[in-house]
Amino acid sequence: MIIAMKAGATAAEIQGVMDRVAALGLRALNMPGGERTAIGIASAIPPEMRESLTEALAALPGVAHVTQVSRAYKLASREFHPADTVVDVRGVRIGGRAVVTMAGPCAIESREQLLAAAQAVKAAGAQVLRGGAFKPRTSPYTFQGLGLEGLKLLKEVGEATGMVTLTEVMDQHDVEVVMAHADLLQIGARNMQNFPLLVAVGKTRHPVVLKRGPSATIDEWLLSAEYLLSHGNNQVILCERGVHPLDRTYTRNTLDLSAVPVVKGLSHLPVVIDPSHAVGTWRYVAAMSRAAVAAGADGLLIEVHPCPKEALCDGPQALEPDSFASLMADLRRVAAAVGRG
Ligand code: PEP
Ligand code: MN
Repeated sequence: MIIAMKAGATAAEIQGVMDRVAALGLRALNMPGGERTAIGIASAIPPEMRESLTEALAALPGVAHVTQVSRAYKLASREFHPADTVVDVRGVRIGGRAVVTMAGPCAIESREQLLAAAQAVKAAGAQVLRGGAFKPRTSPYTFQGLGLEGLKLLKEVGEATGMVTLTEVMDQHDVEVVMAHADLLQIGARNMQNFPLLVAVGKTRHPVVLKRGPSATIDEWLLSAEYLLSHGNNQVILCERGVHPLDRTYTRNTLDLSAVPVVKGLSHLPVVIDPSHAVGTWRYVAAMSRAAVAAGADGLLIEVHPCPKEALCDGPQALEPDSFASLMADLRRVAAAVGRG
């Protein structure tokens, strides 16, 4: 249930509604908007209570209207928040008019490798530098990432190049240290339903990219976003990175591009596409990137390595700097054609 306050509602009126909701044993969430405040009820409301509660709340001073949100996710829904959310990360606006590109290596391997990747993607027009320090690997025998050393390199290279940085946090106990080194957190596909991790990141106000699990439905993905939002973090960006495929012969996963318009209809949160993990082969990354921008994605997350053949992780899907630069030139034309230039 959402209680929209009138544009001129006073702080006392807002508090009055919050107190009334709390007195009924329900959890009230204050969501100050651009023009007016909305109050969400984050607890489940018994069906027999709904009608009388709607009437009682609508009669309180300062209340404009009360809406029942039909979906299981509330704060993530467009019903709750009709305007698009724009996540502003040190001036890089994700969810606004411009398409934002986040690019860099799958894993941070060394200062030289990360710096070369950063300089190349920045020169081509990427705004955000990605690089994994804690890597979720299928096999325990493959490179697991440089950990804290990798985080330090990311911070150093981010500062040296003036880029906003993004890295994955895999463990709830690492949230503080990852936040201290990166502007954007990533919750990886495999951790989309790691609820203690979602709660820990939800308690921060740090911008976060939430990847869709390879077998997750759209509702499950939005409910994971709801964990972040309901704990107070509204700096949430959704990332589709391919779902479990019918056929792995040619691609690693299947990019669910329809998730872009579907999710943008259901939710106000920005949606970005990771074509690299979706296709798993550098050859198809450009086509899927162009399609993603044409479909209305707010951004892209692309793996780029200065020398993909030597990559310690995901080399086959990494673009070389030259291919990335020519893709960025194409993307500017696609973005302009769909009014996102
Ligand atoms: C990654 O971005 O490097 C990664 C591991 O992605 P995903 O969680 O989508 O597999
Ligand atoms: Mn990767």
